[in-house]
Amino acid sequence: MTDLTNIKNTRLQGIAVSQGIIIGRARLIDRSKQKIVYQYLINEKEISREVERFKEALKLTKEQITVLKNRMSDKIKEHSFILDAHLMIIDDSMVSDATIKTILEEKINAEWALKKSVQKIRQLFEEIDFEYIRNRINDVENLAERILRNLAGKEQESLSKINERVIIVAHDLSPADTTELNPSMVMGFITDMGGKTSHTAIIAQALKIPAVVGLESVTNHVQDGALLVVDGYRGEVIINPDENIIASYQEKQIYYDRYASSILRLSHLPAETVDGHRISVKANIEFLEEVAAAKDYGAEGIGLYRTEYLYLLSKEIPTEEALFEDYRQVAEVISPNSVTIRTLDLGGDKFLSDHGFAKEINPALGLRAVRFYLKEPEIFRIQLRAILRASAYGNVQMMFPMISGLQELLDIKNITLEVMNELDKKHIDYDHDIKIGVMIEVPSAVAIADILAKHVDFFSIGTNDLIQYALAIDRGNEHVSYMYEPYHPAVIRMIMQVVKAAKDSGIEVAICGEMAGDPFCAALLLGIGIDELSMNAGNIPSLKKLIRSLSKEEAIKDLEDILKLTTSREVKRYIAEKTETLIPEIHEKELYLNISH
Ligand code: PEP
Ligand code: MG
Repeated sequence: MTDLTNIKNTRLQGIAVSQGIIIGRARLIDRSKQKIVYQYLINEKEISREVERFKEALKLTKEQITVLKNRMSDKIKEHSFILDAHLMIIDDSMVSDATIKTILEEKINAEWALKKSVQKIRQLFEEIDFEYIRNRINDVENLAERILRNLAGKEQESLSKINERVIIVAHDLSPADTTELNPSMVMGFITDMGGKTSHTAIIAQALKIPAVVGLESVTNHVQDGALLVVDGYRGEVIINPDENIIASYQEKQIYYDRYASSILRLSHLPAETVDGHRISVKANIEFLEEVAAAKDYGAEGIGLYRTEYLYLLSKEIPTEEALFEDYRQVAEVISPNSVTIRTLDLGGDKFLSDHGFAKEINPALGLRAVRFYLKEPEIFRIQLRAILRASAYGNVQMMFPMISGLQELLDIKNITLEVMNELDKKHIDYDHDIKIGVMIEVPSAVAIADILAKHVDFFSIGTNDLIQYALAIDRGNEHVSYMYEPYHPAVIRMIMQVVKAAKDSGIEVAICGEMAGDPFCAALLLGIGIDELSMNAGNIPSLKKLIRSLSKEEAIKDLEDILKLTTSREVKRYIAEKTETLIPEIHEKELYLNISH
């Protein structure tokens, strides 16, 4: 490997997980893996001593994590369940019992036996399609490292002792490590390992310190004390930057910091246009841990809770209790604002391979979402019970994905009614007035939106799928991604048709596809009359700022012009020109093309 440690301006590209730009000195943290040697145990006495040694190491690890948990600062206390999850991993039979069993049966040392347990768990995780769950293997591996250190009697360097302003450079940081970071000392961190959905990333966002992960080999290239530029917007790290680079990043830093604080300051204000029209801005989440960050970004509720991940977590269908616990917590944390829980949308690009359902040749058109539960009603009923029970603990709404016709909707509404009656009979509490909506994401649902509107409390337009099905392009296929056009005149007309149907029936209409968070679409959607936009939480501050500078009256006039245009390109050009004069900063390519996406 080339030694880059003394070369100027070495750029490495990683994954941006927490925004901001920092320039500072590196502090290398040794989190290298423990070397493990295989050892055969010769007699019963050695074997039982080894089991005891392992149990002691587990006990010590538990104590360390509990201490960390109790010491968590207020800023990140909301995330303490991440450490609870670590405590649960220690107790999990695949870690504790399985390792003890291997020591006993194979007569080998605890380190090697633990390594085998982790390998087995990794194999299981690798089969999982869903990135968030697959990445949870990092938590297991981090924890195993801590157990190995404890077995070796080594103390881990505590990050809480850092008392100068530095940028941490490490092979990997565990969530337990990040809970110890003092944001007034640690400017940010960069690591070889890690991904967007890691718990380490979530905590970095909560602490609001810039972080870039997944740099693969940064620890090989950085010396302790080296000067670094970390760009937490683009995921870029520059080692030993020269004066010009430093000057240009200092400028960017001032610009971004000013912009970020100006939008964050506004993010808790309502998204109200200059002529007094209000749009509700909410967050899309995929797991419970995201709710706290969504609130910080100014989300006025959760407009889409994608509920698939708990189903992809294990080989078993999750129990009603597990689902209820999860939904209840989301409802409580976001209360008094609402959470819209979308019932299971498995199939399509969120395929469930481990539950014994065959893979389909054309899954986007196959047994997906609502079609799946009509085939497996018991799975649906379990989820419905969990959602309804959680509705007693907050402001919960429920919506069904992929509805393509009225009969389908009536069928699942019937099942919902049956489940409600069951709960009534058992005197189980739930919100009897729970709002029930449908996602509009299949073109046939657009065509009959006027019919559907009479049977639901709200619509939420899933533009990701609606564009896929309307324009006949696979949303995950890179060969046709250039055709994925939110500005397509057909898409605009479809959204208008849905909004009209909703208004005629007096129900609200939201957009929860990616289009909702696209700043270039904001004025268009305002003009069309959308009531709610639900998006990735990170986009909320800039979208709110943008809406606060728009006028609904003007957006309506612009829409009339847009409707005269006949191609996506023309619409895009019109919107680009309009926003350039209206809001020049939207044209700061850096800002919108690189930061918010
Ligand atoms: C959509 O289709 O726009 C949507 C929000 O749902 P998902 O992306 O989960 O399919
Ligand atoms: Mg969808």
